[in-house]
Amino acid sequence: MNRLNLQNPTNLAFTVLLFSSFLFCLYLVIPATSPKSLEQTISPEQVISEEQRTPSYEQFAEPVAIKEVKQEVKPVVQQLELETQQQPGQRQVNALAFDQADYGKQKVHYTDKVIVLAYHHIDEKENGITISPKRFKSHLQRLKKEDYNVISMEHFLHFMKGEAKVPQNAVVITFDDGYESFYTHAYPELLNFGFHATKFIVVDSIDHPKAPRLTWDQMREMKQNGMSFYSHTYDHHDKVKAGSGNTLMPMLTNPIYLENEKRIETDDEYRKRIKQDLLKAENRIEEELGPQYRLLAFPFGSYNETVIGVGKEVGIELFFTTKEGINTIGSNEIYRIHAGTSYMSEDDLMWRMKLYHKK
Ligand SMILES: [Zn+2]
Repeated sequence: MNRLNLQNPTNLAFTVLLFSSFLFCLYLVIPATSPKSLEQTISPEQVISEEQRTPSYEQFAEPVAIKEVKQEVKPVVQQLELETQQQPGQRQVNALAFDQADYGKQKVHYTDKVIVLAYHHIDEKENGITISPKRFKSHLQRLKKEDYNVISMEHFLHFMKGEAKVPQNAVVITFDDGYESFYTHAYPELLNFGFHATKFIVVDSIDHPKAPRLTWDQMREMKQNGMSFYSHTYDHHDKVKAGSGNTLMPMLTNPIYLENEKRIETDDEYRKRIKQDLLKAENRIEEELGPQYRLLAFPFGSYNETVIGVGKEVGIELFFTTKEGINTIGSNEIYRIHAGTSYMSEDDLMWRMKLYHKK
């Protein structure tokens, strides 16, 4: 056992040095962590102008140890906030100013394309749409290790519209449905990696929860830290009778059979119903989270020409399907890889993503 002997001059000098370093750190840290000084050092306006001069997405590739060093994470948080909360025009400036040189040392799997991953629920008990926190973490670790670059949904949107470049090996992480596990399990891990992610919420299930769902407060907090929330319809994540038989079909993509009148909705009634639903979802999200882009993930991955037409009428810019593939500029129908399922080991995920590197 090596005990510290203060009578030994070397140990004494070392102890004094250690103690004075500690005092010096306190001198630096205490003013930096007081709310007043934070306010003074990084006002939103300052961050905006700083950001417009020297924008970079590089820092998202670095792990963000938010729990240990809160004061150092603050600028990153501010930048994430800018990306998700600025008005569309301002956000465009950031996305357009992306610098490819930041990614020079990485392996290049693909360029000018984006893989979008789809998850649902995180829980110890895994199934077809549920993976354990451990499995989720292994996916994130592997994405980072293999030089994939996780970008924000807003950056992706600008890329798809031809307004921004993306880094090589760009990936977007999405979650469907409003499970609270996004807040309790996914979000802390995403913060540790400095990754953005998007959650598509069924708005009615947030307004009137019957099971553990995210709250608007949780979403506001997460939005401040780089997560984003978009529509998975207001209350059309359901199946209904679409004919006089008993077959149940997704209600966003099928005219409903009106039991009382013994007839199917007319085309006009169908269009009106889905338009009301999509608009209601957008309005509620904007009421709670502020102005933002309009994006839609199709319930059950089901869609048709009418849904896309009506969606465009209400201002929806991207439509997220469950078709597997990689996304290239110009399309508004987004392919996704179903990553959040119990059979998807990190190796399987890498193999699956590799299938699309050359497509
Ligand atoms: Zn869903």
